[in-house]
Amino acid sequence: MQSTFSPSSLNTFEKCPKQYHFRYVVKLPVSGESIEAFVGKRVHEVLEKLYRFVGDHGKPPTLEQVQWRYRQNFDSQFDAAQVRIVRSENDRAYYFENGARCLDNYYRRHYPFDGDETLGLERTLRFELQGADAERGYAVRGVIDRLVRARDGVLEIQDFKTGRYIPRQQELDRDRQLGLYELGIRRHWGEDEPIRLVWHYLLSNQVRTSQRTPEQRAALGRETTELIDRIRSEQVWAARPSKLCDWCEYREFCPAADGESPLPARATAPPTPEAAPTPASTAEAATAGGSGQPTLL
Ligand code: SF4
Repeated sequence: MQSTFSPSSLNTFEKCPKQYHFRYVVKLPVSGESIEAFVGKRVHEVLEKLYRFVGDHGKPPTLEQVQWRYRQNFDSQFDAAQVRIVRSENDRAYYFENGARCLDNYYRRHYPFDGDETLGLERTLRFELQGADAERGYAVRGVIDRLVRARDGVLEIQDFKTGRYIPRQQELDRDRQLGLYELGIRRHWGEDEPIRLVWHYLLSNQVRTSQRTPEQRAALGRETTELIDRIRSEQVWAARPSKLCDWCEYREFCPAADGESPLPARATAPPTPEAAPTPASTAEAATAGGSGQPTLL
């Protein structure tokens, strides 16, 4: 049986098989999201709108317009009953300011936004990952924040990050998310296309890059296929408690957190994980809503 997997679903399984089971196998309905995810979506949707504006008008909006749009979207979509703030020492204003700083940093660094060519925004990617024996094929799905032709001619797969953590170069050179996106992009652009993976760490105003060799790409495809094999044959779905439990939307159902799970510990059917968005994913980002205010963005 062929199923669709996303980098975020694969990460979920590695971090906690139990959470994977809740989210992708049982598909336990939950409402709400973390404040970090909420802010990430608001920042992503404003950056997408910024670049669409540049494409439509041939000039960028002002920074004031960008920040106005961010505040409009944040205020209109924030629901205190649905957005969880885990770190109680921080409040809504703190997180709002973090998002505003992300946009401020990015805007000032890239203004007037003519340093490269946008080829795609929030571009959905779907491709098949072939196993070593050529019998297995798994569909992989993801969303590229921004696909770019850089000034030096290299195709860039860009990702916007709103969190504080910046991985070491070693980790980035093994990053699965953008690595898989590269495999998908190469289905169209070919193996000889020069491609660069780019991460924008917006809060700290830093950029990181990585380029993969053919051997690294082959290894990533192989390791990912093997991981999917493991997921499909999984039966136990063990809980793996960690500090991430504080952000887990299934806490109340998890035997490793606050009580006994109402769900069976074993799954009888193989998982059929549709690529569900991660908290920070832009795939589910709401469209920036208009309010009739006199703004160009
Ligand atoms: S509460 Fe923790 S152990 Fe339980 S499913 Fe969530 S992340 Fe896993």
